[in-house]
Amino acid sequence: MMHGFIPPKRYFPYLTWIDIQEMEDKANTVIIQPLGAIEQHGPHLPIAVDSTISLGVLGKALSKLADSIPAYSLPCLYYGKSNEHDGFPGTITLNATTLLSVIREMAESIYQAGFRKLVLMNSHGGQPQIIEIAARDIHQKYPDFAVFPMFTWRVPNIAADIITKQELEYGIHAGDAETSIMLSLLPEQVKMAKAVNEYPSGLPQDSLLSMEGKLPFAWLTRELSKTGVMGDATVATKEKGDMLLESVSDGWVQLIQDIYQFRQPN
Ligand SMILES: [Zn+2]
Repeated sequence: MMHGFIPPKRYFPYLTWIDIQEMEDKANTVIIQPLGAIEQHGPHLPIAVDSTISLGVLGKALSKLADSIPAYSLPCLYYGKSNEHDGFPGTITLNATTLLSVIREMAESIYQAGFRKLVLMNSHGGQPQIIEIAARDIHQKYPDFAVFPMFTWRVPNIAADIITKQELEYGIHAGDAETSIMLSLLPEQVKMAKAVNEYPSGLPQDSLLSMEGKLPFAWLTRELSKTGVMGDATVATKEKGDMLLESVSDGWVQLIQDIYQFRQPN
């Protein structure tokens, strides 16, 4: 089944061109492009993690969304910009220009079909910058096209209540949050026996500079981690994953409703 986590009636590729041509209120129909990556996520998680999270959270949110709100999921863009994981086999990366072009050209097709609201739902921490540039460029070219560059985890959610402070700050890749939510979404693909606890090493001490945050330095994963994990995957549980999935998808229901109501200031 091609739709995977997405409810079939919310899966854009299942529509016909006549369905799309005759759709009512296309101006406010929310079209969502899930974006992920195919990149290493440590010895215990499959390379499809970020794509799985986009699709899993979106599918759950769309299954809770009221029928009165028109919203559709496009097929996931599995490939992203993942060159920070250079050297770990299996990582497949587009360069920034290619990714920008793919998003721009997809958006133009959606615009030509008559839609005026497009959400870029990204779960990969290595590409929010590209997605923000794409959104601004598309909106500048088509001012009546509302574009929303979103990061999946940024909706209100309970992560801060169930994940440690250290993990929230440094567990940025294949750690507790991602491993737990994968245990909820795709448990048969998680090898918990191989999960490790590895925080980034060699970070500057007593310095204004940090890995992420306000004054960062550019880094490659292999400079900071031997296993490809940045965080503690060993403490992940399905229970935490279920709670995260429930809460992040609730956040997305609220966000999709707000986008449906949104009117572009002008
Ligand atoms: Zn990830």
